[in-house]
Amino acid sequence: MTQAPKIGLVSLGCPKALVDSERIMTTLRSQGYSFSRDYAGADVVLVNTCGFLDSAKKESLEAIGEAVGANGRVIVTGCLGVEEEMIRATHPSVLAVTGPHQYEDVVNAVNLHVPPVPNKFVDLVPEAGLKLTPRHYAYMKISEGCNNRCTFCIIPQIRGDLVSRPIASVLYEAERLVATGVKEIMVISQDTSAYGLDVKYQSSKFRGRDIEARFQTLAEELGKMDVWTRLHYVYPYPHVDSVIPLMAEGKILPYLDIPFQHAAPSVLKSMRRPANQVKTLDRIKAWRAIAPDLAIRSNFIVGFPGETEEDFEFLLDWLEEAEIDRIGCFEYEPVTGAPANDIEGIVPDELKRERYERLMEVAQDISAHVLSKKVGRTIDVLVDDVEPDTGRAIARSQWDAPEIDGTVIIHEADGIKVGDKVSVLVTESDEYDLFAVPSAVAARDDLKPTAVAS
Ligand code: SF4
Repeated sequence: MTQAPKIGLVSLGCPKALVDSERIMTTLRSQGYSFSRDYAGADVVLVNTCGFLDSAKKESLEAIGEAVGANGRVIVTGCLGVEEEMIRATHPSVLAVTGPHQYEDVVNAVNLHVPPVPNKFVDLVPEAGLKLTPRHYAYMKISEGCNNRCTFCIIPQIRGDLVSRPIASVLYEAERLVATGVKEIMVISQDTSAYGLDVKYQSSKFRGRDIEARFQTLAEELGKMDVWTRLHYVYPYPHVDSVIPLMAEGKILPYLDIPFQHAAPSVLKSMRRPANQVKTLDRIKAWRAIAPDLAIRSNFIVGFPGETEEDFEFLLDWLEEAEIDRIGCFEYEPVTGAPANDIEGIVPDELKRERYERLMEVAQDISAHVLSKKVGRTIDVLVDDVEPDTGRAIARSQWDAPEIDGTVIIHEADGIKVGDKVSVLVTESDEYDLFAVPSAVAARDDLKPTAVAS
């Protein structure tokens, strides 16, 4: 039997790029290709690039160079693919360059350079497609592109305006994922709360019912499935209020990833952020009154052009008042082609670093305080890893997204496996993580006679 050609894959960038890689792999696998874990064993190497920041472009170019050096047969795809000339000037030997979400083009390029060997016995795609994430969680992309025009971002230039997937296609994908053992779905896009706007919320048939492509409807339908649903990249448009009761009822996770980026009105204005409202603090308080367990994750940029010390202190106070549970922070970095490059008031690098450090100190204090309030509670967690040598398992709670948030470290975790959902008693906390024991162990220890000092 002729051996199937082997593809090497280097996937860079954000979860959205990861989903693109998964789709490309799924298609190639369905055509009979197999995959190589190293450059040497690959017939061709695909590099899925990121072109968001200049530092990401540099990293992508380096990854292409590494693949060219180690293998020689390289196809480039992803966000940096829109800069074909620059890629070819740096690495003239690449076989093909395709842009973001051009699945067909990249698959065609692979077909051309390493033709597939059809084999009816091996051309089976697993039901959930091939995934680069562990089996128990998956990212699900609901739309491409973005209608906003934030001044520091070039994603709309690269990916175009919002294009929402039909809701039936999204829900069938979710069903397939659940059927193949996925226990947590991360809903992603550039602007999740704008879902359906471009198609005027057009209905499609899911299981015989007409369902509108709306953010709230999507959350309701996912809430009916037996899966943790986590919403990422949500902007606080007024209709976001409608999903908070679903969180209070336990239908979807009480978690919102809202990239606020800043809080000072003048900075938000020059960033041209969507849903930039003066009353966001009141909204957050109202959400917490309905769903007290709500965790908010957010990213912030410090040192944006024109950011004054007053703006920065406003942001620090806002963070404390809003009690943002999970905070990520970037020092502002100019992106080639972004309108923000023309804004006056460059913040010197040392000051950016100083503000970054001050912000992260505040973030750490908030996180430590919020987590300390969880001690003594019994919660469900999803296990990502086990350490047989130490008897520990590394899990996540409903308040932790993979890779970006904290973890729940379970002691006395004998018998617990990756992908298990287990009930644990939280016994301790630190700045970012919780520590726990399985509820069954806690109950057993309760029954033990207490030692009496003589
Ligand atoms: S919302 Fe703003 S930052 Fe996010 S992708 Fe759209 S333009 Fe870029």
